[in-house]
Amino acid sequence: MSNTPKSPAKSHGRKTISASADPRELITPTPRLKHAWTAQIITLFPETFPGTLGTSLTGKALHDGLWTFETIPLRNFGEGRHRNVDDTPAGGGAGMVLRADVVGRAIEAAPAPFPIIYLSPRGTPFTQAMAQTWASGPGITLLCGRFEGVDQRVLDHYDIQEVSLGDFVLTGGEIAAQAMIDATVRLLPGVLGNADSALEESHTNGLLEHPHYTRPADWKGHKIPDILTSGNHAKVAEWRREMSEKLTARTRPDLWAKHLKDK
Ligand code: SAH
Repeated sequence: MSNTPKSPAKSHGRKTISASADPRELITPTPRLKHAWTAQIITLFPETFPGTLGTSLTGKALHDGLWTFETIPLRNFGEGRHRNVDDTPAGGGAGMVLRADVVGRAIEAAPAPFPIIYLSPRGTPFTQAMAQTWASGPGITLLCGRFEGVDQRVLDHYDIQEVSLGDFVLTGGEIAAQAMIDATVRLLPGVLGNADSALEESHTNGLLEHPHYTRPADWKGHKIPDILTSGNHAKVAEWRREMSEKLTARTRPDLWAKHLKDK
């Protein structure tokens, strides 16, 4: 891509392993980076990645090179000695807006031409289907906003899709980006220990998942439903299906109506 900045993103050139005291540096680079599913993240706070994604199954997958991420620190593209990234909104009003030129330079510095997503409360609500689409491609670029958001011209110019984590307002896009990366990465081959668990989960078939139970068999007088300990697999499957349907109808009438319509 054009417009290489004078001070390249800190994350550039991390394709080799080198000793470092920073734990994030230690777990990020792997020799298999090139073919791994990749999240390019444009953010004012690169130190917040991988965050939670560095633990448990997503952390192991990151370590094993099944996926990788590259932060593009917005500050590196700022204006002037103070590397300013924001300014007051045209037309007046509260807050600050991320500058079009600054965000534009960061976008053009992203090494791979993946689809660009702007994390935004105005966006299309994120769904399991979106995670599946993203997981089937080579990667995505996530633009994390801060303050009042980014200059509209950037969104128009690069034809950026706005995606929301839900109908609430966060202070920045980083938590939303991590949530969406998590949902996507766990669908990549080899990330979940048991591939079947992804097939049976909530939202995969349009229904919410049935309840789970484990030891002890009696807890504070609450017993595990008899059918689950009966050893009758067909009956267990039937019970789970029934519970899944009841739960969906009760807590998510919108999903239940859609399920009945699509059946
Ligand atoms: N003024 C904006 C909100 C800005 S919140 C508005 O009213 O629409 C600051 C940043 O947090 C946003 O730029 C966005 O990147 C992120 N953010 C806030 N809520 C979000 C949500 N529900 N989903 C995804 N990103 C969100």
